[in-house]
Amino acid sequence: MPFLEDIDIAFIEPCVADPGRVRLYAEPSRDLAEVLPYLNAVINHATYNKDGPSLTFMKEFRLITIYPRRITMSKAQNTTDAWQVLDWLKDLINDTYDRRGSITPVHGVRWRPTALQIYEWLPRTNCKACGEPTCLAFAVKLLLGERTPQECEPLFLPEHASLRRAFFEIVAAFGYPAPPGYPAPPGT
Ligand code: SF4
Repeated sequence: MPFLEDIDIAFIEPCVADPGRVRLYAEPSRDLAEVLPYLNAVINHATYNKDGPSLTFMKEFRLITIYPRRITMSKAQNTTDAWQVLDWLKDLINDTYDRRGSITPVHGVRWRPTALQIYEWLPRTNCKACGEPTCLAFAVKLLLGERTPQECEPLFLPEHASLRRAFFEIVAAFGYPAPPGYPAPPGT
């Protein structure tokens, strides 16, 4: 019997960073915590956050975060694409688990997002409410640790509920402080 039998999509919605694509939450059939440091060793450009724990990486243009009991994927092309990537991921997890005796687990950060990647999850209005001239400048300062995610006040407006949830989930996966209550459940 494989280590991981199934991954099921639990929630899917338009991707707030790219409305032409989809963002989804999926549930693995077992806890994945023990395999995350091994996946960090075999996936190029991944970020392992031991406090989550979580593992975040890019699969081409898709941003994927694996938690012990949840997997999120942003910018999937559509539902079919998402299922194909989840099948690939399930095989990768099972292969990595089978080979774990020959893999040295890695517990550190191997990849950081770029400011442009963070920028995609901000309101992108350049409203200056945070004191920065542009959202991109805010993203740069965030990566430098000079600003905190919650200093973008427009994210707390009702119309940005989906963006807020996605943004705080992503920055938390990269080890930045998110407000209490985040990451929040899908659909909230
Ligand atoms: S407050 Fe938010 S939306 Fe406004 S400029 Fe700063 S990062 Fe952009």
